[in-house]
Order: sequence, then structure tokens, then C-alpha cells
Amino acid sequence: MTGRPRQVDVLVIGGGQAGLAAGYHLRRAGADFVILDAQDAPGGAWRHTWPSLRLFSPAQYSSLPGRMMPSPPGGGYPSAADTVAYLADYEQRYELPIARPTRVRAVRRSGESLQVETDAGTWRARIVISATGTWWRPYVPHYPGIGDFRGRQLHTVNYHGPEPFRGRRVVIAGGANSAAQILAELSTVAETTWVTLRPPRLLPDEVDGRALFGLATRRARAEDGPGIGDLGDIVAVPAVREARDRGALKAEPMFTRITAGGVVWPDGSDLACDVIIWCTGFRPALNHLAPLRLRGPDGLIPVDGTRALGEPRLHLLGYGDWTGPASATLIGAGRTARDSVAEIMRQLDGSGGASG
Ligand code: FAD
Repeated sequence: MTGRPRQVDVLVIGGGQAGLAAGYHLRRAGADFVILDAQDAPGGAWRHTWPSLRLFSPAQYSSLPGRMMPSPPGGGYPSAADTVAYLADYEQRYELPIARPTRVRAVRRSGESLQVETDAGTWRARIVISATGTWWRPYVPHYPGIGDFRGRQLHTVNYHGPEPFRGRRVVIAGGANSAAQILAELSTVAETTWVTLRPPRLLPDEVDGRALFGLATRRARAEDGPGIGDLGDIVAVPAVREARDRGALKAEPMFTRITAGGVVWPDGSDLACDVIIWCTGFRPALNHLAPLRLRGPDGLIPVDGTRALGEPRLHLLGYGDWTGPASATLIGAGRTARDSVAEIMRQLDGSGGASG
């Protein structure tokens, strides 16, 4: 790409909920900023999840700062489509400056600025907020024989509903909310087996994402140890409750080996299956930051709050609790973004005020 780099004070990479929450606070602070998003439409990862997915909290507890998510018609927990509609409305309402589709390829140090190279030209920014989420880096653990399996293997990101699995023998691996929700609907059309590393923990019916958010907050303030629920615990949304009541939520321990035709446990017992669905989580999408060489041995970037320890002009938003309590949830993203933007505005002031 030719032409002079465009200049901005704060450049946000990613226009999902974390990027929008940052945009809301940057707008309020009067910052000079832009949001670059790789997708061609609003909604972040929510555009790609399976249609029956239900949030694990009611709308008013799944909201970004400023504007409440409307309750879905007929009540209940919002769907992924409700969330996409909410995020699309949110970015319009606050007139957030989003360039889309623009994929950031690399962020590099360049004198006083960070240089942000994209598939639509180069930017220079005094501060970069990376809010690229995790959906784009699905994680599948390695098991011996995984390459030999002749059936179909897929990750949560490629699950779009139960129909293709009707009448098949499906193994669902993973002990958290995605696995439980997918199992709940698949078990009505397929022969399902659920395998988990630890016995899954289903929260009581009256406990939902609100309690988990409270837990994350108290943990961050070190007020709480392990308690009634954990962030990996399963919220009994209506479909999960119904599956539990029908006895479909029984889990087996994780298998240790995969063969051409199925899975095998340590005692030699085996199970023939046609499909393995890996609901085994995600890793943060940080490849665009590789030139900065900031990753620690655990693959994460060490931070103080949201600021990268090795590069103070870089902030990380969303991703997981390591960048703020519950920062990868709709309700948690707002608070982390508020604190992060307050710090960024101090950083900009400290270096001579806003440019441009
Ligand atoms: P994303 O939504 O992934 O947005 C990141 C954006 O950045 C995307 O638009 C992406 O295209 C873009 N991007 C990525 N790389 C680049 C690049 N190099 N250049 C430019 N743009 C880029 N949270 C809740 O609060 N309640 C729930 O009930 C809930 N349920 C969940 C169920 C599932 C199955 C999953 C996976 C997550 C759930 N979450 C829930 C967690 C969380 O809300 C989502 O993971 C959320 O999408 C994270 O938002 P984000 O903005 O950090 O990332």
C-alpha cells in the first residue's frame, strides 16, 4: 500500500464488544481515535456462533456502558442474533468511527509512535488498544491418534446447529457452557456422549451469569476464594435445564486416545463414533502483535491493568480475566474499558496532549 500513514492518537484494533466499549469511553473523553475491524459487518464473534446459543445472563446484565441491551421479545436470555443487533445499534448510536473491513497485519515500534500495518494502508498511533478477542484462535488439545480419526472433527467455531448430526454418534469434549448448550440440543437428534476433564459443575437454576460476574469482581479484589460457582461453571439456561431433566447431561471422564473409528479410555474400553466436537476453548488472537515480542512463556502478554508491561503504548482489552475481571463478557468489558481509557488519557496528557 502506498501513501503517507494516517495519524491518530488512539487506534483500537477490533470492533467487537471490547472495541466498542473502548470507543464509548474514548468518545466521552474527547479523544482522537479510530477503530479498525476485520469484519464487514458489526457484531464481533457473535456473528459466528450457532443460532440457538443463549447468553447466560439477562439483557440488563449483558450490556455495554451507556445503552442497555433490550430484553428479547417474549423475555428470556438474549440470543447471539439479539446481541449482534444490539452491538450494531450501539456503534451507530454513539457514532463510533469504525473502518471496516480492515485487518491489522502487524504493529511495530516506530519512534514516538506505534506503526499499524493493515490490508488497507498504514496508520501511526500514539496508543494502540488491541481488542481482537479469542474466537479467531480455537483451541483443540492434542490426543494420540487425533490424526487417524476417519470421522468428522470440528471445534465449537464450526458448529452451526444440530441438523448435520441427526442420527450420528457424536462425542462432545469440554466441560463448560458451550459444550453443555451444544449437548443439550444435539442430544435430541443424535446419540451423544459427553466427555470432560473434570466432572462438570452445573450451577443451581437460580444462579446465572450475574453471580459469576460478581465472583470475578470479588476475585479481582482478592475478597473471595473458590466458592459456589466458578467462571467455568455451567449456567442452567432453559435448554440445559431441560436436557438435565431428561438425563442427557451425564459426563464421562476424558478419553486418552483416538483411533480411526472412535475413542479409547485408559482401561481399554472404547466407543465407536462418527463425530468429535471439541468445545475446548480459545486462545487470544495476538498474532498482529508478534513484531513487538511481548509474549510470556504462557503465550499471554504480561500486563499491569490493561497496559502491556513491555510496551506502555499498548493496551489489551477483552480476552479474559488476565486483562480485567470478566473483561471478555459483555458486562465486564465496560468497566475494564473505562479504567483503561482513563489511564490512556493520562498517558496522552503526560506526553504533551492530543495531536492531530
Ligand atoms: P470479538 O467479539 O471476537 O471481537 C473482536 C473483533 O476484532 C472481531 O470483529 C474480529 O474480526 C476483529 N479482529 C480480530 N483480529 C483482527 C485484526 N488483526 N485486525 C482487525 N480486526 C481484528 N459473554 C457474555 O457476556 N455472556 C455470555 O452469555 C457469553 N456466552 C459466550 C458463549 C460462547 C460460545 C463464547 C465463545 C463466548 C461467550 N461469551 C459470553 C464471552 C464473550 O462475550 C465473547 O467471547 C465476546 O465475543 C468477546 O468480545 P471481544 O470484543 O473481546 O472479541
